[in-house]
Amino acid sequence: MRILVAEDESDMSSALRQGLEEEGHSVVCSSDGLDALSLARSYEFDAIILDVMLPGMDGYAIARQLRQANSLVPILMLTARDAAPDMVRGLDSGADDYLTKPFKFEVLLARLRAISRRGGGSRKPVFSVGDLSLDPSTRQVSRGSRTISLSRTEYAILELLMRRAGGVVTREVMLDSVWGFDQNVEDNTIHAFVRLLRHKVDLPNEAKLIHTVRGIGYRLAAESHV
Ligand code: CA
Repeated sequence: MRILVAEDESDMSSALRQGLEEEGHSVVCSSDGLDALSLARSYEFDAIILDVMLPGMDGYAIARQLRQANSLVPILMLTARDAAPDMVRGLDSGADDYLTKPFKFEVLLARLRAISRRGGGSRKPVFSVGDLSLDPSTRQVSRGSRTISLSRTEYAILELLMRRAGGVVTREVMLDSVWGFDQNVEDNTIHAFVRLLRHKVDLPNEAKLIHTVRGIGYRLAAESHV
């Protein structure tokens, strides 16, 4: 698994990195809340180990922001205090499970396995923005009462935009996740596909959901400001 460890205590962070790498996982560490949120938004992780108390932005806020952006990444929260309100707050903010420090590494591994097996199954795996919704399990897309049929590429672009709803998806990220790293795709091609998608998603009488962020990429949002 590819795991993001957001933890500002360097001893704990390096112990987690070492232990997880020995188990064959690939680990990215971050010691700052804002940095961790930006990493979690920009790259696909199979799980996030999220310390509650982080500089920049705390673990609750990070989990909440990820869930608001429709991220289903399994989150294991680490809390230093064995207090019920903390755990409730952690789970309410969108964490899948929590662990109180200090903990046994074996327990952490077991919790990680459990939440990644669930794979976000406890939440509704349907993305929605305004009246647009997309179900990755059936690949069905609809807006209001109308069904939208999309080509493979159009669907891949829309799913990416919906997974990152509210945030800007750069052309580079779109290129990597829709076409793959080694494809030679020009900006014009991306633009053409987004235009096709836009014709199907945003009818003239509907509010615009797909926004162009000039020189950077695209953004899917119900509100028009960027
Ligand atoms: Ca901490």
